[in-house]
Amino acid sequence: MADQTYDVIVIGAGFGGSACAGLLAHRGLKVLLVEKNARAGGKAMSLAKNGFTYTAWVVIGAPVIDNLYESVARELGVADLAELVAPGHQGAIYRSPDGRYSQLPDMPVGESDPLVIFDWLGIAEDDRGAAIAMFAEMTMMPPEEIEQLHDVSFHEWITARGVPRSLYAFLVSLCCDGMFMVPVDMLEAAEAIRSLQAMFLRHGGMFCRGGFGKVAEAYCEAVRRNGGRVLMKAKTERVLVEGGRVTGVVTSQGTFRAPIVVSNAGIQPTVTKLVGEEHFPADFVRRNRELVPSWALLGYRYFLKRPVIEVPYGVVFSDESPWSRERLEKAAAGEASREGVLYYEVPSNYDPTAAPAGKQIVLTGSFCPPSPQMTAAEIEAWAAAGEKILFAAFPGLADAIEDKELYTPRDVSNLTRESVFPGQGGETIGLGQIVGQCGPGKPSIKAPVEGLFFVGCDAGGTGVGTQQAIESGMVVADAVLAHHQAAQRAA
Ligand SMILES: Cc1cc2nc3c(=O)[nH]c(=O)nc-3n(C[C@H](O)[C@H](O)[C@H](O)COP(=O)(O)OP(=O)(O)OC[C@H]3O[C@@H](n4cnc5c(N)ncnc54)[C@H](O)[C@@H]3O)c2cc1C
Repeated sequence: MADQTYDVIVIGAGFGGSACAGLLAHRGLKVLLVEKNARAGGKAMSLAKNGFTYTAWVVIGAPVIDNLYESVARELGVADLAELVAPGHQGAIYRSPDGRYSQLPDMPVGESDPLVIFDWLGIAEDDRGAAIAMFAEMTMMPPEEIEQLHDVSFHEWITARGVPRSLYAFLVSLCCDGMFMVPVDMLEAAEAIRSLQAMFLRHGGMFCRGGFGKVAEAYCEAVRRNGGRVLMKAKTERVLVEGGRVTGVVTSQGTFRAPIVVSNAGIQPTVTKLVGEEHFPADFVRRNRELVPSWALLGYRYFLKRPVIEVPYGVVFSDESPWSRERLEKAAAGEASREGVLYYEVPSNYDPTAAPAGKQIVLTGSFCPPSPQMTAAEIEAWAAAGEKILFAAFPGLADAIEDKELYTPRDVSNLTRESVFPGQGGETIGLGQIVGQCGPGKPSIKAPVEGLFFVGCDAGGTGVGTQQAIESGMVVADAVLAHHQAAQRAA
């Protein structure tokens, strides 16, 4: 019988859990990583079907330069197992107020010409000064100034700069909505500006051949190569707590013991279901219940008979696309248009092996509530809004469809985090990066139960989804190592 006792048990092989487990195994701890699915990757898992390979849905990496996917993979010696590609061009499409769709002229990476962007967005000469001043202020803002913006929404920050509506829509739709999946009038300005700086100065638009899940799979391989154990299809049912300390986990494949448990299952499911609220102080439980998840994407995987789209990825937006809290709530209640920004990705345009010869795969995503409990009619309404934008921007696409699959927040929740409160579970990112939940307001990686840590997009990281999860993995690995060493010294 395999060993049942470890230095640390990590629950979940998403980007946060697998990075953390890989780093801890590499630094000499005896690690067990338990994952309920058959594959690692969580919300950015790789899938394959009928000769097509792809990430489960639209997943676009940023930044490209000095990205964390590579730096952790290099540290773990597994960089050869996940081939990252940055195709260098994209297809942002703007629907102008007169209803015309036009694509951003192709510009070499790192040499974007603001004047070309302003012409494309129809920005008048008189408005260009404010636009340039805003870009300069945002990209050059020093960290200590960014730190002053935890109480301000990005909407408040940018509207105070008087930029024209089309530029606001471009920034919010291309970047903020997709990077954070929260309405821009709730999005924390510090989080937004830090990430936009990274994207503008270190570029965006990175992918992985075979799907992004390959990155998490590589981190899992590092656990094995460093003497750790990775148990797939092992769902954790319970985290064991004795005398205020974690002592192990009960999984569908047995009970395992460790004085440290790191959970990538989401802070709310971990506290409420896996550990049990009775083990936490009342104010922690209350705050945990009040945490607001990010919103969600739903969309389609289109398997096409022939190539239709020429670029590797892009976004379709108009001046009306940006989501505000009020518009999202009204749209969810069926009282406002559900049409917002649409993201699309074409894996076979950055990885020729991603589709059989002569075919194409296109993934799409548009906003919807994170609730896995949405009714069929609600799902249909949100999906139709996204598809209407796609078919208008790419008139030849509908005729080329051989097969299509819808994915919804219910699929995201089934694949990753459990829904323990109504309306939560299908979120795209994790905890919403809104004012009050970032910076000093972000939950701690260390739970108020001895030996319990949270890893992933709910604690410990900043920035765009997958990068945030990996950053959390790095931060938590450092903290767990220190905790382990302190316990050894005390023993
Ligand atoms: C539709 C969609 C589009 C996205 N687009 C982008 C994008 O363009 N760019 C980007 O950077 N990010 C994107 N993201 C977000 C990004 O994928 C996530 O933020 C990130 O991958 C989350 O990582 P994580 O480690 O926090 O957790 P998760 O990915 O949620 O991983 C948690 C892991 O824990 C496992 N688990 C949960 N409960 C248990 C249990 N009880 N027992 C065992 N295992 C368990 C799950 O199976 C899962 O593997 C997207 C996400 C979605 C859903």
